[in-house]
Amino acid sequence: MFSRVKIKELLANYTLGDTVTVMGWVRTFRNNQFIALNDGSVLTNLQIVVDFENMDAELLKKITTGAAIKAVGEVIASQGKGQAIEIKAKEVEVLGVCDPEVYPLQPKKHSLEFLREIAHLRPRTNTFSAVFRVRHQLAMAIHQFFHNKGFVYMHSPIITGSDAEGAGEMFRVTTLPLDKLPKTEEGHIDFKKDFFGKSTNLTVSGQLEAELAALALSEVYTFGPTFRAENSNTSRHLAEFWMIEPEVAFADLNDNMDLAEGLLKYCIGQVIEHCAEDLEFLEGRLLDEEKQKPQNERSEMSLREKLQFCLNNDFQRLTYTEAIDILKNSTPNKKGKFNYPIEAWGADLQSEHERYLVEKHFGKPVILTDYPKAIKAFYMRVNEDNNTVRAMDILFPGIGEIVGGSQREERLDVLMARMEEMHIPLEEMQWFLDTRKFGTCPHAGFGLGFERLVQFVTGMSNIRDVIPFPRFPGSAEF
Ligand code: ATP
Ligand code: MN
Repeated sequence: MFSRVKIKELLANYTLGDTVTVMGWVRTFRNNQFIALNDGSVLTNLQIVVDFENMDAELLKKITTGAAIKAVGEVIASQGKGQAIEIKAKEVEVLGVCDPEVYPLQPKKHSLEFLREIAHLRPRTNTFSAVFRVRHQLAMAIHQFFHNKGFVYMHSPIITGSDAEGAGEMFRVTTLPLDKLPKTEEGHIDFKKDFFGKSTNLTVSGQLEAELAALALSEVYTFGPTFRAENSNTSRHLAEFWMIEPEVAFADLNDNMDLAEGLLKYCIGQVIEHCAEDLEFLEGRLLDEEKQKPQNERSEMSLREKLQFCLNNDFQRLTYTEAIDILKNSTPNKKGKFNYPIEAWGADLQSEHERYLVEKHFGKPVILTDYPKAIKAFYMRVNEDNNTVRAMDILFPGIGEIVGGSQREERLDVLMARMEEMHIPLEEMQWFLDTRKFGTCPHAGFGLGFERLVQFVTGMSNIRDVIPFPRFPGSAEF
């Protein structure tokens, strides 16, 4: 029964006169005669022409938008414009009816906000099927890139017993009864009675585990879900997001930047090569969306121009100190246009500053390095000046930070001093410190936020629209 040809394969390779079986969901049914069928394999709908005069009236009534059908028919050259072939149906079977009176997806434009409320059905739209096909292509590209370079894909744990990573607020994992928490003699919650015999959380990053692996396998990467209980309701933050974290032994910050820039360009190139039709569609969608904005907020480049531009240009590399100089002397800073004015060296950069550098000053992706140690994590390698660390952030147009990484502090004494300074309990981190005790070596790595990459490549402005089921404050539907 389920022998069928996918619409993508059929459109790419057909013989006129062949009889084929296709299955999919009805997008529209015009004049009781023309079915636009979509099976998700490709953006394009396949037209099925039915001989309504010889078709059972009851069956005909069941062919509605959203219904799942099977059609058997002959491949013929299309009379209509915009398609090479269509199917002259010999037989149509309705596999699953769909009452058009209650089906939320009508054959018209729906807002992204509305579609977010019906996230279980939105993959049936052109926009979301295109986004998810591109997301898939990007995931494949990431594995391909690292595999080609001989990296080992490491699965870091999702439940973690270390809460010292400091990358963000964590979600607790527990089986303790919330209404009757066991207490110690001192009155604290007794986590010895919890499932793991200790307090556990969902991971915010696989980096520390990736470091352990890199100091044995040399080149590894993780690619998995990470969780942050930060209450940020922005278009770039999720509570559950996927992160790619390569970690490389015998590498410094320059190697790290080259690796990240190479990865981003490879991923973009793969989408341009394999998702041409989806990209063209998403570009048109973005253009429509931008028409709603005032002229000065519209981007100068189309989506595909922007991707091509990223591919063809070196990312601009500069230090945090150089960036602060640029920002201090910038027009918006002097005119008091920044919400957070840049007054002195040491300030943490806000997304308005990052976007100024990328979109206004340089007009291309930027890699900022050597941040003040006070605003970065404990594991970053301290520079000679004892004031900055070998950190790097990659900033992208429209997105801001897409990658955060560093050369790691491989010197045991310096690392321990930093941890003490930052009140990180050394006892709990013995396993991490062991790498520095037993055969330590220079190494570096970074974290790439997968959804931010998908956002950039698809041109979707809200991160909630590039993951199938977004989790954010107040929402964990589906
Ligand atoms: P931001 O300043 O944007 O909150 P961060 O400094 O907290 O980012 P890192 O801890 O360095 O980010 O995480 C590495 C990467 O993971 C970031 O560069 C970004 O691409 C992505 N990322 C971080 N937090 C989130 C989030 N809440 N949702 C989606 N992606 C995220
Ligand atoms: Mn953050």
